Amino acid sequence: MPGGVNSPVRAFKAVGGHPLFIARARGAKVWDADGNAYLDYVLSWGPMILGHAHPQVIRAIRAAASRGTSYGAPTDREIQLAGLIQKAFPSMELIRMVSSGTEATMSAIRLARGFTGRDKILKFDGCYHGHADSLLVKAGSGIATLGVPDSPGVPADLARHTLTAPYNDLAAVRKIFEQFGNEIAGLIVEPVAANMGVILPKDGFLEGLREITRRHDALLIFDEVITGFRLAFGGAQERFGVIPDLTCLGKIIGGGLPVGAYGGRREIMERIAPLGPVYQAGTLSGNPLAVTAGIETIRLLTRPGVYRKLENRSKALATGWTDAAKRAGVAVRGTQIASLMTLFFTDRRVSDYASAKTSDTKAYGKFFTGMLERGIYLAPSQFEAAFLSTAHGDSDIDKTVRAAFNAFRKM
Ligand code: PMP
Repeated sequence: MPGGVNSPVRAFKAVGGHPLFIARARGAKVWDADGNAYLDYVLSWGPMILGHAHPQVIRAIRAAASRGTSYGAPTDREIQLAGLIQKAFPSMELIRMVSSGTEATMSAIRLARGFTGRDKILKFDGCYHGHADSLLVKAGSGIATLGVPDSPGVPADLARHTLTAPYNDLAAVRKIFEQFGNEIAGLIVEPVAANMGVILPKDGFLEGLREITRRHDALLIFDEVITGFRLAFGGAQERFGVIPDLTCLGKIIGGGLPVGAYGGRREIMERIAPLGPVYQAGTLSGNPLAVTAGIETIRLLTRPGVYRKLENRSKALATGWTDAAKRAGVAVRGTQIASLMTLFFTDRRVSDYASAKTSDTKAYGKFFTGMLERGIYLAPSQFEAAFLSTAHGDSDIDKTVRAAFNAFRKM
């Protein structure tokens, strides 16, 4: 396997050292192949909001597996999951299930292009939407420059249809729309950015995007692959009250099995095959095991107080480790919303990719290693979120803050 891994960040290249090989996991903990236990804040990069191997989810998967693992034909359970998603995301009037977040965003982009008859899309610098060609693009210098590929293998002819702007910069978005407005099919955004570390939208940013896209007849696409069922039951659109035309989901809705979904306004979604001409399909789409894990996970998230408790514990951790850094004399900026947080090793305020990149990634690497030595498993990169689950208790938070203080003191 290239680099010994099946997805690049896992290789620890950004922090040094060798990746843990995980043997098993339960609740808030993972155990590596050598038998060491770690408190886990990676949580499979977001899906495991109930912690690992939740007994109810596992029981449901077992029962589902005994009835067969894939049919390539519709099932009642897909309808159940779609119904649960729709209750949380009323803007998803029609939903199509796929097998990953990448498939969801890639398909939403194709649909936006097919629906509007336009080719260009706008994304934000530092926002990650999976690895589809159109989305692996970053800005050239200055705003409104045509996109250049972020990866060899992405044709420049395709990348030039992807425009980019700095996150939280409405003026830049306005300028781009003034220039290219009638060529832009859609604007895709992580409503809370979580792939350059966690960065919150400024007041009015999402509302502004809604207003600008509407004015130019471009679709607003929320990539809620991380924020869906994480920021609130109804995701960022519930929390901020801004309603997109299309929404992409993944991670939590598969309860730890491979799932994604996209959906939105009926008149747009009706353009998808077999109702309409925009093609998109999948052998394992709506897979019965994945859908079952999703149903069980979402049902457990409807219990009263789940999100309040998650947020309180996350706040305790975020303030706890920021204070610990101060006491140890290490410059950090903490960000947190719901059960998502990042500790940036910078004294700058972080509001976009440029400011996130002022972080001292070597310092993060030291912190990461110090925490790992103390039994705490954080994301092996500065530019990722730490995730909390309902299985993380108050004593876990205390333990993590103490470990952080000791790790900071050694830096
Ligand atoms: N969108 C966002 C916001 C993501 O965080 C990710 C993955 N981390 C994706 C899309 C892609 O999802 P996947 O890795 O399941 O293809």
